[in-house]
Amino acid sequence: MERVSFVIATVHEVALKGGNRGWFERTLVHNVRAALKGLPVAEVSIPARVVIRFSEPVAWHEVRRRIETVFGINGMMPVERAGTTYDQLERFVSEHAAEFSGATFAVRCKRSDKRFPLTSEEVNRRLGAFVNELTGMAVNLENPDVTVHVLVQSDGLYVYKDHYPGPGGLPVGTSGRVAVLMSGGIDSPVAAYLAMKRGTRAHYVHFHSAPYTSDTSVAKVERLVRLLTRHQGSSRLAVVPFGDCQREIVSSCPERLRVVLYRRMMLRTAERIARRWRCEALVTGESLNQVASQTLENLAAIDRVAHLPMLRPLVGLDKQEIIAIAERAGTFEISILPHQDSCSFLQPQHPATRTTAAACEEAETPIDVEAWARRLQHEATVTVVQYSWNA
Ligand code: ATP
Ligand code: MG
Repeated sequence: MERVSFVIATVHEVALKGGNRGWFERTLVHNVRAALKGLPVAEVSIPARVVIRFSEPVAWHEVRRRIETVFGINGMMPVERAGTTYDQLERFVSEHAAEFSGATFAVRCKRSDKRFPLTSEEVNRRLGAFVNELTGMAVNLENPDVTVHVLVQSDGLYVYKDHYPGPGGLPVGTSGRVAVLMSGGIDSPVAAYLAMKRGTRAHYVHFHSAPYTSDTSVAKVERLVRLLTRHQGSSRLAVVPFGDCQREIVSSCPERLRVVLYRRMMLRTAERIARRWRCEALVTGESLNQVASQTLENLAAIDRVAHLPMLRPLVGLDKQEIIAIAERAGTFEISILPHQDSCSFLQPQHPATRTTAAACEEAETPIDVEAWARRLQHEATVTVVQYSWNA
């Protein structure tokens, strides 16, 4: 399959039922158009499935890799238009008979336009007999060499041979807006991917410890965010210099609680930034019990400082599953590049695995946490990240 003039993408039915259907569809069409930016798109409509018409033939692999980033799309196929009547369908098939190579075939029709005079079953039978007559191929419904798929839609008849999986999920923008706490690691990019997959628009907050560490994490996060932004066109990234705050926590608070206290400060700051961006939830890449700071007790003590809902899309996943998604999302190879996460004086020897909000509040008394959160918010550098397919 080299070049295509029509592509049809299928949509997860569940999301499109009910009163919000029109809005879901408009958002999805908008997202498809955005993903195809720069290609000669003549029209994107959604009579039942998403129908994309190009004004000139376009390389299929290019279309495919772009549609693969549009959440809400379940599958896609390069199609050819075969007119609007059954007779035109037969004519189309006879003109393309040379493309059907194999000993056996099957016709599979799906009819979404119930006004079409033939049922799916009738199309299967009549076109099956026609192809058999035309080519001599035998019908085999179980395991055919060639499948002639026919879609009967209100906008016409389409024929295709192969279909390809889409990313699934819901269209970005239909589930609200979130701020992702983004490290340079493997997990938080996957959390962002999954949050977008459920239809949220994601923005990002990253904390770095420069000058106490190198700022390689910032460059990694920028790369990760740019890649993830291909699912939504543009996003915001706030980069927060966190080293001085960490140094004060190190000098004023109990060593065992450090990591939990850092995380509470991150959350307070991220929440301020998130509200400014009108985000409705925070997302982290935490799983349960993956590391010492992620016991249920510690997560509870961390969450206590947040007022927005905390979403943890990875909570039920083990590392292998997370890595598989990271590979699918394309983030894995960036995440595993070396970077300096923290330096040894910032890390505790024996981090507490079970703490409480009360113990954290007590430990925080020497520092003015609200003043720090305000200061960190103001010191954040915010950039708008755009994804460009041609870059
Ligand atoms: P990741 O792979 O995302 O770094 P992790 O398994 O290393 O996660 P932690 O280091 O405990 O786990 O971090 C837990 C979560 O806290 C991260 O997934 C991320 O959401 C957030 N987080 C950690 N460090 C930072 C940071 N420097 N900036 C922003 N968020 C962070
Ligand atoms: Mg990490």
